[in-house]
Amino acid sequence: MFSPSQVMEINSFYWSLDVPVNEIIAAFGFKNQHELLRVIGPCKVEWQCSYCDGDIEARTRSQLKAIVDKKRDFDRRGVYSLAQYEFDCCASCSQRLIQIDREMHEARSKRQREELDRNLRSLKGMPYRQYLQTEHWQNVRNSALKRARFKCQVCCSEQRLQVHHRTYARRGEELPEDLTVLCSKCHGVFHETSELAERGRADAR
Ligand SMILES: [Zn+2]
Ligand SMILES: [Zn+2]
Ligand SMILES: [Zn+2]
Repeated sequence: MFSPSQVMEINSFYWSLDVPVNEIIAAFGFKNQHELLRVIGPCKVEWQCSYCDGDIEARTRSQLKAIVDKKRDFDRRGVYSLAQYEFDCCASCSQRLIQIDREMHEARSKRQREELDRNLRSLKGMPYRQYLQTEHWQNVRNSALKRARFKCQVCCSEQRLQVHHRTYARRGEELPEDLTVLCSKCHGVFHETSELAERGRADAR
């Protein structure tokens, strides 16, 4: 245990920023920085909370340095270089703001998730013909065409390209591998042969 005067001394070394932390640790026989920080009290800085005008306190050297840098920036350019709560408002406001921020963020992502779910359900549920008219399908189709460099992936023709669904399992959220770009001729041939194969399999059973 340290006497109150030793604690004051340790704090003044720590907050002077001139003495390396390692030297303070060695000089006072701390095991590590964590142990040192337990006797370090907060350092008030000449900077008021931008929300409640209360004093801002640094808890660690790096916080103090950040505040000092920020203040220097503010004095020079009139703008903050850091937008983090820890550096421009007091501990209690920062707690409150972080909480508000988190709640807003959660509410926003919940709304976004719900909207995505609604969209996806409607894309999956609508008739296929109608699905082909949606903006979603137009985008998916265009990216498939771009990936295939606007060529049939079987015969390289650039005429009358169509985008074939290899599976409908992910309708509304297709993966690139779910789609193949085919010219209308290859597309027709493909569907004929797969129907033939399908029938062949059925006959064999
Ligand atoms: Zn405050
Ligand atoms: Zn083709
Ligand atoms: Zn097809």
